[in-house]
Amino acid sequence: MENTQSASCKCGREAVYFRVQEGVHYCPACLSRQTERQFEKTVSKGKMLEKNDTVAVGVSGGKDSMVLLHLMKKLSEKLPIKLVAVTIDEGIDGYRDRSMAKVNEFVKAMDIEHRIFSFENEFDVTIDNLVKNDPSIKSCTYCGVFRRTLLNKAAREVSATKLAVGHNLDDEAQSVLMNVMRGDVTRMARLAKTSEHFVRRIKPMKNIPEKEIVAYAILNNIPYFDGECPNSFNNARRDVQGMLNEMEQKYPGTKSNIISFYRKLPTIGTESVPVKCTRCGEPAAHEICKACELLEKIKT
Ligand code: SF4
Repeated sequence: MENTQSASCKCGREAVYFRVQEGVHYCPACLSRQTERQFEKTVSKGKMLEKNDTVAVGVSGGKDSMVLLHLMKKLSEKLPIKLVAVTIDEGIDGYRDRSMAKVNEFVKAMDIEHRIFSFENEFDVTIDNLVKNDPSIKSCTYCGVFRRTLLNKAAREVSATKLAVGHNLDDEAQSVLMNVMRGDVTRMARLAKTSEHFVRRIKPMKNIPEKEIVAYAILNNIPYFDGECPNSFNNARRDVQGMLNEMEQKYPGTKSNIISFYRKLPTIGTESVPVKCTRCGEPAAHEICKACELLEKIKT
């Protein structure tokens, strides 16, 4: 899995993973246990879940969301919570249909309720059509805004009290850096504050590095789809991800340090208090929410 030069784990077994930053070697069993502990610690420290919560778990079929669903299922055996897997279908042929097939199999095997919500039904658009009509369109901007809105709506529709998403430590570091690069202080503040109109969004894997999530999926035979969206070449996040991976390689700890820098910042007051969109009633920073603004743009 990783070059550990035949090192041993502290339990004496052969190591398969090395945490550079801490200089610690892990065998498969200890690495899995460490990931599960980190997950539970984040949930309890962040007071993310309570008894009898109904949790909508955003599941796309990728490694993060499939590991999230697996860990949530394990947690539900200790804490009485109800899980509903929620998948957003953006309308990307050959990509989302294939990842959804993995989700279908997995939820069936785990006996978890599964609901699918599509851009087509909700917004009367698909990402494929947007790209077909205008190949230069920034599809990820539309996709991200519509997905966020629809996930929140889906969570309300399944009567969820929490919405769990599979963001990992790498995603968190990328988000901080992207907001810095855009000079977007308001959005940065919104990373910390969530609107009361949103179903509370929780990120139980935010302290787990992406590499360890992949390792956990492999070690625990969790199926996932690792195909790439055909529009990802147009995705700024992917560039930031590449840059951060390079920096992490040269300067171990970079990603964690970016996050800890952000978490130490004093809370910045947002200029606008989130309100309800006057068109669709969804949470908005202004009179019209971003999704309605983009839908208007598509029409015109
Ligand atoms: Fe959507 Fe862009 Fe991600 Fe594709 S790469 S799923 S278009 S955000």
